[in-house]
Amino acid sequence: MTFDSLNLMPQLLENVKRSGYEEPTPIQRATIPLVLSGRDVLGCAQTGTGKTAAFALPMLQCLSRRPRRAGEPRVIRALILTPTRELAQQIYDNFVLYGRRLPVTCAVIYGGVGQQSQVDALHRGADVVIACPGRLWDLMNQGYVRLDFVETFVLDEADRMLDMGFIHDVRRIAQRLPDRHQTLLFSATMPPEVEKLAMDLLCDPETVKVDPVSSTVQAIDQCLYYVDKANKKHLLAHLLSQSDVENALVFSRTKHGADKIVRELKKAGIDSCAIHGDKSQNARQAALNRFKSGECKVLVATDIAARGIDIAGLSHVINYDMPMEPEAYVHRIGRTGRAGREGKAISFCCIDEIKQLGQVEKLIKKNLREEKSDWPMEVLTPSEPKKPQPRPARVDRQGNAQAERRPRQSLPLAGQPITIGRDGRMKASPKPAPKPAAKATPLARPVQRVNRHRNQAGKKS
Ligand code: AMP
Repeated sequence: MTFDSLNLMPQLLENVKRSGYEEPTPIQRATIPLVLSGRDVLGCAQTGTGKTAAFALPMLQCLSRRPRRAGEPRVIRALILTPTRELAQQIYDNFVLYGRRLPVTCAVIYGGVGQQSQVDALHRGADVVIACPGRLWDLMNQGYVRLDFVETFVLDEADRMLDMGFIHDVRRIAQRLPDRHQTLLFSATMPPEVEKLAMDLLCDPETVKVDPVSSTVQAIDQCLYYVDKANKKHLLAHLLSQSDVENALVFSRTKHGADKIVRELKKAGIDSCAIHGDKSQNARQAALNRFKSGECKVLVATDIAARGIDIAGLSHVINYDMPMEPEAYVHRIGRTGRAGREGKAISFCCIDEIKQLGQVEKLIKKNLREEKSDWPMEVLTPSEPKKPQPRPARVDRQGNAQAERRPRQSLPLAGQPITIGRDGRMKASPKPAPKPAAKATPLARPVQRVNRHRNQAGKKS
């Protein structure tokens, strides 16, 4: 199938050709005709499948077929909500690319930067607004945004909206849309809350399913190194210096960890930059630009900051830390092997991450291929869970230490036995402590797990 058979207008076909796309991806084939016909769509699609063009191309066509008449005020006719700033910027860039020489203007709105340039863009008039929910809601409350004339509403990465706590903002924003509008909802996974949201927002939708999240892209070569936590930095520096690494996106579980990896790589003479939520938006964009332009070949990121980032021709994804949620593994490695290209995904697993590894392998329904290195896993005892830090002393406005507050006394429930304490206060009698559940010895599973992999590797060789 070619783009010509999708009933797209000549200018759009030319723009698609200029983007280097030869044929539509499965999600584009399924979604473009539905959006053109005005249907609501529930899209279950993995990142990197060409989802943005699947909704952007038909939307641009509908908007330019019914352009604003001269003298009419420029109102927002399409709204796209997306969870992260990088993704918002990326979708905006795609709209500009696909909408070349079409009478459609776009604006992008996200937090972390000053609002004035965004307000100015809205005043100039934008047919399409691509926004993160928090800043959009803020601007709506300041009276800068009205959604009364929105014809198409797109909710992108709905599952991440949920994870990132944006779902209330999304619902509040959706309530301000006019009664009649088309809605397109995309999500990589469909947890019950997203299904509920879809039922509330969509009207008789057509469902489009492409590559569920548990099926990782075929073109990605996935492997695993068992390595002690302290040696991950050495293994990373070693792998990054291999000739097949053109560029690499390294995932860290925490923001602090991402900065630490950058420092360690610097010591090893490798230039890298980090993006995470503690960096200003400008610093994040600058790091991303350096990476995309090839000036810096290693980008270290946390899951949230890297969500949906599209890097053309990314050769390697490295999971420096195993993800806490198995679905994040699929999102992470989906940055490489995009649009039919090959890619490599490497995961590091220390003894504390055996459980997460098991969850990932269960989700993707296969065991990751084990590779050996000069830094084999030697520590087989999981580390102790961190003790909670003592709370800092409470101080008053003058900086004087204050007495600790007494824990609030709970009132007895109806029917609960009452005792009178030494202080004469009434207390609910404590319930007998529940019996501790029988537990397996903490070491048994990880060691079995590591042994299983070692034995398998031994059998193969
Ligand atoms: P997306 O899933 O929208 O983030 O797109 C992932 C990548 O696929 C982007 O780099 C797009 O430029 C690229 N892409 C989108 N559609 C096509 C297509 N039909 N053929 C080749 N590449 C595409």
